[in-house]
Amino acid sequence: MPRQTQIGLMSHAELVSEHESQTANYATLKTEKLTLDLTRGKPSPEQLDLSSPLLALPGDGDFRDGTGTDCRNYGGLTGLPELRAIFGELLGIPVDQLVAGNNASLEMMHDIIVFSMLYGTPDSPRRWASDEPIKWLCPAPGYDRHFAITEALGIEMITIPMRHDGPDTHVIARLLANDPRIKGLWAVPNYSNPTGVVFSEEIVRELVSMPAAAPDFRLFWDNAYAVHPLTDTAAPVLDVLGMAAAAGHPNRPLVFASTSKITFAGAGVSFFGASKANIDWYLDHAGKKSIGPDKLNQLRHLRFFADAEGVREHMQKHRRLLEPKFALVRRILEDRLGASKVASWTEPKGGYFISLDVLEGTAARVIALAKDAGIALTAAGSAFPYRNDPEDKNIRIAPSFPQLPELEKAMDGLATCVLLAATEKLLE
Ligand code: PLP
Repeated sequence: MPRQTQIGLMSHAELVSEHESQTANYATLKTEKLTLDLTRGKPSPEQLDLSSPLLALPGDGDFRDGTGTDCRNYGGLTGLPELRAIFGELLGIPVDQLVAGNNASLEMMHDIIVFSMLYGTPDSPRRWASDEPIKWLCPAPGYDRHFAITEALGIEMITIPMRHDGPDTHVIARLLANDPRIKGLWAVPNYSNPTGVVFSEEIVRELVSMPAAAPDFRLFWDNAYAVHPLTDTAAPVLDVLGMAAAAGHPNRPLVFASTSKITFAGAGVSFFGASKANIDWYLDHAGKKSIGPDKLNQLRHLRFFADAEGVREHMQKHRRLLEPKFALVRRILEDRLGASKVASWTEPKGGYFISLDVLEGTAARVIALAKDAGIALTAAGSAFPYRNDPEDKNIRIAPSFPQLPELEKAMDGLATCVLLAATEKLLE
């Protein structure tokens, strides 16, 4: 009953009573001895099953692409032209500006930063390592593995506030114009991880055109969720390369994507799109580390999809599996936490995550309570550079992997932990 009231407006006596009732709920939760996991945004087995035909492709005797390349052999660093044409259409990138690689776009992002550190970019006066410590703009909440790459390479990360339509460009413009050590910015323009934010056209235009003190500043444009809508109207994939070229900064954006959340997360195909100058630079360095990507995997993907429409249709099947999970999370959050006003959450129209903000100063406590009750959540602060959530309030929810009954249990348990931690905090 007390949950019908806004917790922040309760009298002391009401708060004590609410705390007691949540303590009892939590004790019951612990007796259930759950082992549930809401940590990583992995496709569920049912989603992976959608791509089962890939396991039998390209099939005995099918090893040449449309240009006659024998995909079993060395070479072809740029990847298969026909597969690049399909994803070029989806990403709005000309085929000769798009490379198809191996199974992880993160590897390409990592490689490109390392190449820039060691050799410099086409626009660098010297290699980035000569200017150490270099700096990076990190809109947050953001993707923990992006931040892990820059942290591992000793790059100083600057947290940028995330707004409903993209990162705060006022803060970015001020920093970028004055500091030549700022070399990059992490961006997930469509259905961001973890907020679901879609960058507006205005924000994208500002990012590609604003002056930068460093001539070799790069937008790491990770369009991992470009074709992952959860509603009938897909967010447009903006032509960031064209917009940057028109603004006089053709080499600024480096676009990444992959089929990790389309086919198999461990055995998909990655893509890198950029200006011709950047592509040539990348191929020059990538050609030293590999004689070419796994073209048979690319051929298998080409046979599976046939064309861009094949990808879109396939994504609708994912949507049908994901939508009920997102709806369930929304319903439980609303039912259990809506009236209490101790939490707010995003309602993404695509992608893989829901970002939950709990009462300031309680996220770490909520995550610890959930862990003790057998519900694994991503570590506190994960969505921030150096794992430092300054307000200790953000929790990333990944609903894709668990089955619906497990997800329901996990979310209900999480809501109990949110309410318990909030009442504890308010009684301090
Ligand atoms: N980029 C974002 C924003 C992601 O959320 C993920 C996976 O969760 C990845 C990249 C990983 O991509 P890949 O499997 O191509 O390395």
